[in-house]
Amino acid sequence: MNPDIASGSMDHQLTLTGIVERAERFHAGQAVISRRPSGAVSRTTFGACASRARRLAAALRSLGVGVGDRVATLMWNQSEHLELYFAVPAMGAVIHTLNPRLFPDELGFIVNDAGDTVIVVDESLLEVFESFRATRDFAHIIVVNHSGEAAGTLDYETLLAHAEPVEWSALDERQPAAMCYTSGTTGRPKGVVYSHRALVLHSLVSALPDQLAVSARDTVLPVVPMFHANAWGLPYAAALAGARLVLPGPRLDPESVLDLCANEHVTMTAGVPTVWMGMLAALDAEPDRWKLPELDRLIVGGAAVPQSMFEGFDRHGLTVVQAWGMTETAPLGAVCRLPEHLDTGGQDERYGYRTRQGVASPFVEIRARDDNGETIAWDDAAMGELEVRGPWVTGSYHGGRGAENFTDDGWFRTGDVVRIDPHGCIRICDRSKDLVKSGGEWISSVDLENQLMSHPSVAQAAVIAVPDDRWGERPLAVVVLRDNATASPEELRDHLAEEFAKWQLPDRVEFVAALPCSATGKFKKSELRTMFATA
Ligand code: ADP
Repeated sequence: MNPDIASGSMDHQLTLTGIVERAERFHAGQAVISRRPSGAVSRTTFGACASRARRLAAALRSLGVGVGDRVATLMWNQSEHLELYFAVPAMGAVIHTLNPRLFPDELGFIVNDAGDTVIVVDESLLEVFESFRATRDFAHIIVVNHSGEAAGTLDYETLLAHAEPVEWSALDERQPAAMCYTSGTTGRPKGVVYSHRALVLHSLVSALPDQLAVSARDTVLPVVPMFHANAWGLPYAAALAGARLVLPGPRLDPESVLDLCANEHVTMTAGVPTVWMGMLAALDAEPDRWKLPELDRLIVGGAAVPQSMFEGFDRHGLTVVQAWGMTETAPLGAVCRLPEHLDTGGQDERYGYRTRQGVASPFVEIRARDDNGETIAWDDAAMGELEVRGPWVTGSYHGGRGAENFTDDGWFRTGDVVRIDPHGCIRICDRSKDLVKSGGEWISSVDLENQLMSHPSVAQAAVIAVPDDRWGERPLAVVVLRDNATASPEELRDHLAEEFAKWQLPDRVEFVAALPCSATGKFKKSELRTMFATA
């Protein structure tokens, strides 16, 4: 530092409170629309949600929630969830969104690993809650009711009705604000904890025109769940920009989503390819049923977007934009926006570009390294594992687990194998992590293999991802039976069902005499994929 000069800029903290207060003060009248599990639509505003967040914070405080305490949520995309998104971080606590699709055993592990003290459950998810409730002694269980009061738990609305609104206190931007779990290749899910600063910067950059482009003129429908990497940050970006927010609840079938898009004049929506696959089929079947003149863009990510999806939506005059990200990157990492010079390019060239994962978002740095640890050239030919760093990229997991995912010089290893073109546009070619991504949710092939190999008749098992039109990928098990042993696919699936949810079970079980092995004794999954992917 040169002592002759010092920065005169204020050291102003970048906290989510700034976004909540902005929504309350400047976007108070902007609509927040929720579709309930019953299908009914309820309407409120950012102003109402922000002022209810003040009461909610008071109520949580009176229940003993203090700075750094974890408040779990088991909820859909709904206005009460937004209130928790506002209240919990602004009071200095940490919102921990739970994925109700996980297996009870995983949920039980996660709430204990996070150390959740209070949990807020939507009434429609009480059955899921009951499935893991016994694993943790929550200090308080709060239920968002739509029908009447549930016995033995605190009622969300009653709590709010009896609370006086709080004034937000000053926070440090490096304080934790939110957390979310990500499935690992092996072992248990790992917690990613986001700071206020990370989420504020993520919101600002997401809203940029060439990123997700969120403005006060938009009506944003996050199909991606609020328990999945903060619905890709869209609730905060919408609150910051003052965009209308449409929260679809649990009904994500194509017709329900299309009805919402048409009825609420949605301009932008976001989710994983599986959802849009269904929407496209519905639009193709009844092209005149839904009028969507305002729908400007569909942000699709979480898994690769096939060219047929771009083409299909183009036929309906709807633009798909691909984005790449991870729970560990909060999640925005890259967006694929067609560069200007391709406006006049041929159609193949344009689709060729749009099917790539895109260019790193501002402040996200990328590099890729090959098996020898050498940084690859950006020549669109060399392949390496993508590594990232940046202000909203996680630098460690909760509890210090998963250290192998970080390099010695401070980069996060994504497990995605990529080529990078001379302009920095990424193309994912493969995955080094052993996972199957089905309908946007991970299935651990390693965990399935371990359970299969615990069956007395199974000598060896390998699980691979095979392409699937509807789900993107589905697990397929390749099994070597012990000498003289027998087992049917049904028997092995029943055995797996003891530990896994139904949607995680392999659709196909193939029996082989031996599994191809590499020199280091690992199953050669690439070979298995060639053998079975299209069979
Ligand atoms: P998310 O919550 O966004 O699904 P996850 O952390 O569960 O994030 O998964 C991140 C992984 O999903 C990435 O490492 C990559 O393998 C895959 N992925 C995300 N976006 C894309 C994309 N556009 N194309 C291909 N794969 C993607």
